[in-house]
Amino acid sequence: MRFGINTLDELDFGSKTVLCRVDINQPIDRQTGALKDTTRIRACLPTLRELSSKGAKLVLLAHQGSDIEYKNFHTTAPHARVLSELLGREVKFIDDVCGPAARAAIAALAPGEILLLDNVRFAAEEQTLFELKLGLSHEQQAQTQVVQKLAPLADAYVCDAFAAAHRDQPSLCGFQQLLPSAMGRLFEEEYCVISGLMEAPKRPCVFVLGGAKINDAFQMMSTVLSSGVADRVLTGGLVAEVLAWARGEDIGQKARDFIAKQGYEGLVETGKALLGQYADKIDLPCDYAYVKDGARQEAAVGNIPEGQLVLDIGSRTAETYQAAIREAKTVFVNGPMGVFEEEPTEHGTRAVWEALGGTAAYTVVGGGDSITATAKYDKTEQLDYICTGGGALIRFLSGEELPVVRALRHGSKIAQK
Ligand code: ADP
Ligand code: MG
Repeated sequence: MRFGINTLDELDFGSKTVLCRVDINQPIDRQTGALKDTTRIRACLPTLRELSSKGAKLVLLAHQGSDIEYKNFHTTAPHARVLSELLGREVKFIDDVCGPAARAAIAALAPGEILLLDNVRFAAEEQTLFELKLGLSHEQQAQTQVVQKLAPLADAYVCDAFAAAHRDQPSLCGFQQLLPSAMGRLFEEEYCVISGLMEAPKRPCVFVLGGAKINDAFQMMSTVLSSGVADRVLTGGLVAEVLAWARGEDIGQKARDFIAKQGYEGLVETGKALLGQYADKIDLPCDYAYVKDGARQEAAVGNIPEGQLVLDIGSRTAETYQAAIREAKTVFVNGPMGVFEEEPTEHGTRAVWEALGGTAAYTVVGGGDSITATAKYDKTEQLDYICTGGGALIRFLSGEELPVVRALRHGSKIAQK
């Protein structure tokens, strides 16, 4: 038991049918089905190896893509092929979620064998739209089709999907009502690293918050500053721009229009409140970069030329941030400093990641685009921890109890037959 949740040490998996929810959602080419990244697939391999070697008949449940933006929504067939390659053994696949074909395939499993079911979000009750509209309780989630059809075939439920732990969906929160449950090794590791970071960070502890999810960043900032976890917060990306606007700095009309168009104007007030309370702990850029005729240009805050849209922090800011990262003992990063996907506006992000690679501090990076930046700047080996979760990590750091954590605590009380 850790955090009131069973680990894989607490249950017996020998010859048991085990439903294991993983998060192997990856960017995918919808035409060819090729996976553009396999970070999350690799991350859950230790759990799969362990369960399989303990003799479990292992059934994997996973989602691919979002039903809200309808992005990357795809069958999980390619994931089974990649899993087979990485594990060096066959991972079976069935193009069904909980119908007769899926149930027959589960019943046919031998100890140690692994079967991946199709994208759970092909079932309506697994969709995020369904979650947001209906808000089913965990008891109600246990009555959904996916849980009702699959739970009777299984002896235990394991969740290794920390990256999806903020989702309140049946395959993540419903089975724990009916089956003895445990968290997988990846879930356990991510939980440990992040709670360790929140409880006793080595100081100074610096948070670097950038990117485009301003609401999440503000929530996290407020939590880590009020709890005293963060000694200093360095800001970049749109997060910094909204704060600069809140402080009354001129970031240019184009940036203000852009922020308003994204629907973030209301957050300027939130930014004012944050700055009012923690002005001395929040760093804002002193200069910014924009692109003119395809080339990078920089200007001090207040001097951004009419008609230019800021897309990165400037080099003086980048230097200040690099120094802060070098002097820190703990650094947590979520969100790039600018539009790092484009060459003229990648400097700020590259500079921060260079400093992360070189610092002696304990470094943790989370968030989808931040993981992409880590790979782009070849820092995967140098960082101490790369968290597979984006949304889950942010909500965890905001002090919320994640739905899957609550469900796992419940399922950890169910005794094994
Ligand atoms: P993560 O996925 O790491 O949590 P986000 O999704 O919040 O990060 O933000 C990443 C996105 O924000 C990137 O696509 C990047 O291009 C964009 N971005 C960063 N800075 C800016 C900026 N100043 N203006 C517009 N977009 C930005
Ligand atoms: Mg992102």
